[in-house]
Amino acid sequence: MRSTCCRRAAAQTIAARTSAIHPVPYSWVNPDAPGPSSGPLAGRAIAIKDNISYISSPTSCSSLILQDYNPPYSATCVESLVEAGAHITGQTKMDEFGMGSQTTHLPPHYTPVHNPASPSPGEPPRSAGGSSGGSAAAVAEGSCWAALGTDTGGSVRLPASYCGVVGLKPSYGLISRHGIVSYADSLDCVGILAKTTDITRQVFSILSHPDEKDMTCVSSSSRKLANEILDSHQSKITPTSTHPLIGIRIGLPLQTHLPAPHVQTPPSLLEHLQSLGATLHPVDIPSFKMALPAYYVLASAEASSNLGRYGGGWVGSKIGDNEGEFVGESGEERRKRIRSGRFGPEVKKRILAGTYALSADEFNNTYLKALHLRSTLRRQFNSIFRIPHPLRPSHTAPTKGIDILLHPTAFRTAPLLDSSTERGQSEYLQDLLTVPASLAGLPALSVPAGKLNDGWPVGMSLTGQWGMEDLIFRIAEGVE
Ligand code: GLN
Repeated sequence: MRSTCCRRAAAQTIAARTSAIHPVPYSWVNPDAPGPSSGPLAGRAIAIKDNISYISSPTSCSSLILQDYNPPYSATCVESLVEAGAHITGQTKMDEFGMGSQTTHLPPHYTPVHNPASPSPGEPPRSAGGSSGGSAAAVAEGSCWAALGTDTGGSVRLPASYCGVVGLKPSYGLISRHGIVSYADSLDCVGILAKTTDITRQVFSILSHPDEKDMTCVSSSSRKLANEILDSHQSKITPTSTHPLIGIRIGLPLQTHLPAPHVQTPPSLLEHLQSLGATLHPVDIPSFKMALPAYYVLASAEASSNLGRYGGGWVGSKIGDNEGEFVGESGEERRKRIRSGRFGPEVKKRILAGTYALSADEFNNTYLKALHLRSTLRRQFNSIFRIPHPLRPSHTAPTKGIDILLHPTAFRTAPLLDSSTERGQSEYLQDLLTVPASLAGLPALSVPAGKLNDGWPVGMSLTGQWGMEDLIFRIAEGVE
C-alpha cells in the first residue's frame, strides 16, 4: 500500500503537468513509474474509473462514504490489463456511484473535470459527460493510451461522444465485473475508452474472457456459439478492398431522428458508408423512447438495494468521524447520520426513487411495468437483427433484417459545466439514445463523427446483436 503523502505528491505532479490545460480528470495518480513489462499491452498507460477496484489505491466512487476505502484485491479486468503488461496510470473522477451524465456529482473537495475538446481556449468550460467523464477526458487530453469506464445506461458512450473519443459498452456479460462497485447489476458493464477503434479492440480482446468469480460473466461455450454464429454470418458479407462493407445492412432507427438543432446522422457519413458497400434501411423500434423512463425506474430500484450496504456495517462505518463524539448513539441513529452526511444529493434522490418503485403500493405500477417495457424492447431489437441472439437459440431472426443500428450517441454536444439549466431532468434526458442498448444488453460503440457548428465533437453509435463486437469494430473503422 502506498503512503498518503506519496499519493498526494504524485497527484500534485500530475496536477502541475496538466493544470495548464484544465483541471485534472484523475482522483488518484499512480506514484509508481512504469516498470519493464511484456505482453500484448506492454508499457501501455491505462487509467481506470474510480469504481474499479485496484489493490494499490483507494476506490471511492467519488463518494464521501467510501473516501478511505482501500479494496483488498484488484478487479479481474485490472488484473487482466496488468498481466498483459499495461501500467495503471491512476483512477479517474466520476459521478458519485456512476449516477449522472456530466461528472458533476462530485465530493465538494474535487475540482471539476473540464472537457478537453474545447475548440478555442477562451470558451466557457463544458462537461466531459458522465459518469465516466474523468476517463474520457484523460484519453482526450492524451495522459493515457486507453481508459476503463463503466456503462450502466450510457456512461462510457456519452462522455466519448462529448470528448471526441471512441467508447465501447460491450455485450452484457462479456467482461467480468468482479471487483466493480455495483450501481445496477442487471445493466452494469465495464467499458473501454480510447482514441481509436483499433486501440479499443486491442483492450477488448484482453478483457473479454470467462471469469468464475463473476457468475454473470458468460462461459466459453456461449462465447464459442456467438463466434460460430458470426462466422456463419460472415458468408453473407464478402468484403473487397474497395468495398469493405459490401453486404452489410445498416439500420437507421426512425425514433432517433430528432429535428435540428438536435444532432443528426450526417448525410455525408451515410453516403460514405454506402460508397464502402453498405446498404441503409429505416427501422422501427416503437419502444425506443420509452426506454428512458423504464431505465430510470430499474436502475434506481437496483441502486437503492445495492447502496443499502453502506453506512454502519462493514463499509463506510468509520470514515473520519470522531466516534467518541457519538457515544450512546443507537445503531439506527448512527446509520442515519453516516448516510445523511456522506451520500450526495443525487445518490439520495435515486435511493428515494428506487425505494418508492419497490414499495408494496408502487411495485406493480412502476417496477413491473418497467420490466415489461424492457422485455418488449428486447423483443423489438431481436425482430430487426438478421443475426440471431446467440444466447436465445429458439429465436429466429428475420432474413431481411439488419446487421447494425446507426444513430447519434447523444442529441446534443457537451453541455456547459456551470449552467443550472443543464442539471435536473435535462441531465437525465441526455441518456435518451444510450439506454435502449443497455436495457437490451447489446454491444454499442460510440465513434467520433466530426463536429457540430459550435465546434464541439459529436459521436455516432453502432449497436449490434449480442456478441457482435467484431462486426461493430469493422464498421466503426469505416466511420472513423
Ligand atoms: N446517466 C445515467 C445514470 O445516471 C447512466 C449512468 C451510467 O451509465 N453509469 O444512471
